[in-house]
Amino acid sequence: MKIFVVNCGSSSIKYQLINMEDESVIAKGLVERIGIEGSCLTHRPAGKDKVVLPSVIPDHVDGIKKVLAALVDPNYGVIKSMDEIDAVGHRVVHGGEIFDKSVLITEEVLKKIEGLSDMAPLHQPPNVAGIRACQKLMPNTPQVGVFDTAFHQTMPPVAYMFGVKYDEYKKYGIRKYGFHGTSHRYVSEYAAKLLGKPVEESRIITCHLGNGSSITAVKGGKSVDTSMGFTPLDGVLMGTRCGSIDPAIVPILMQKLNLDAAGMDKYMNKECGVLGISGVSSDFRDLESAAAEGNKRAQLALDMFCYQVKRYIGAYAAAMGGVDAIVFTAGVGENDIGTRAKVCSGLEFLGVELDPERNNVRGKVTEISKADSKVKVYLIPTNEELVIARDTNMLCGK
Ligand code: AMP
Repeated sequence: MKIFVVNCGSSSIKYQLINMEDESVIAKGLVERIGIEGSCLTHRPAGKDKVVLPSVIPDHVDGIKKVLAALVDPNYGVIKSMDEIDAVGHRVVHGGEIFDKSVLITEEVLKKIEGLSDMAPLHQPPNVAGIRACQKLMPNTPQVGVFDTAFHQTMPPVAYMFGVKYDEYKKYGIRKYGFHGTSHRYVSEYAAKLLGKPVEESRIITCHLGNGSSITAVKGGKSVDTSMGFTPLDGVLMGTRCGSIDPAIVPILMQKLNLDAAGMDKYMNKECGVLGISGVSSDFRDLESAAAEGNKRAQLALDMFCYQVKRYIGAYAAAMGGVDAIVFTAGVGENDIGTRAKVCSGLEFLGVELDPERNNVRGKVTEISKADSKVKVYLIPTNEELVIARDTNMLCGK
């Protein structure tokens, strides 16, 4: 069984071809700048050199067509024909309250996915375009949708409701949905196995810290609260996103900066976060170099980030009546030794004892707490593509 995993952004397509017999990645790659000058496909076949293929790629159908051509190419391809692809798994950002798990895509399902575009106007339309492109090019191959929000559909109303009028929840679906669900699900399941405790009894806090960051409380294997909200702007401050702020700031800044709703949305998503605080970069590596050279605003941005993550850990320990394990994952969580140390320092009162030597590691599964730490702390690299492939395999398995 070979599964083609597709993640379509507004101007990009990330893909992997996975052999489910041993869950190995046969090829992966990225189409960039779709519909923009300078579009290009970077294809990485396993065990061979990567190839960079610049060409005009006007839309997602053409992008997928070029990826499929690369996969069957006699020189750098990895399969003989497209018939070897048994199923396609698509990352879909929003499942609303309709989808609480992955689903085989039918025309009716696709209409429902499309109907949720208002909730994620930047992400949902390209996801739909990717599905339609694959349906067109591989009409007889089953397609599966795997939703970023699905894992969080187990949150109770006390966690997902906002304090706005109930009417707006009923009319417009204004509530917390949460994101990065595929990642939180993968690392929390992994951590539950490492803990060696029945999943039903486990209380795990997963910290997905990357360009976008979210923290999730996972009790008994189910998401019971998460830091992102109606959109991925909520929660901790991120690379360029402001995270949770006093909502009254929004109309005041719109007036002061002379911004309309779209301008304000762009400001909060693209100009704030650690970039906006530091004035240096959204990348934690740049911030750390700047802070080491004495840049106080870079240091403040890093300190704010760690403080806010720590605050969520405390809140979620309270929400679950305790915590058995904390997991760090994604770009910052997997690689940034200093950030992990700073987030955990001061959490000794909860029973968290980080081991500085064990924490001196990047990108591989490691228990980074001391052997006698009451709360285990793990580094677990995330693998959203593998979850998408596994779900697709489960729904289409022959
Ligand atoms: P992601 O969104 O999960 O791909 O994470 C990307 C982010 O991870 C980058 O913007 C960096 O801030 C961060 N990152 C990657 N490598 C490192 C590293 N070695 N040290 C600190 N931060 C890193």
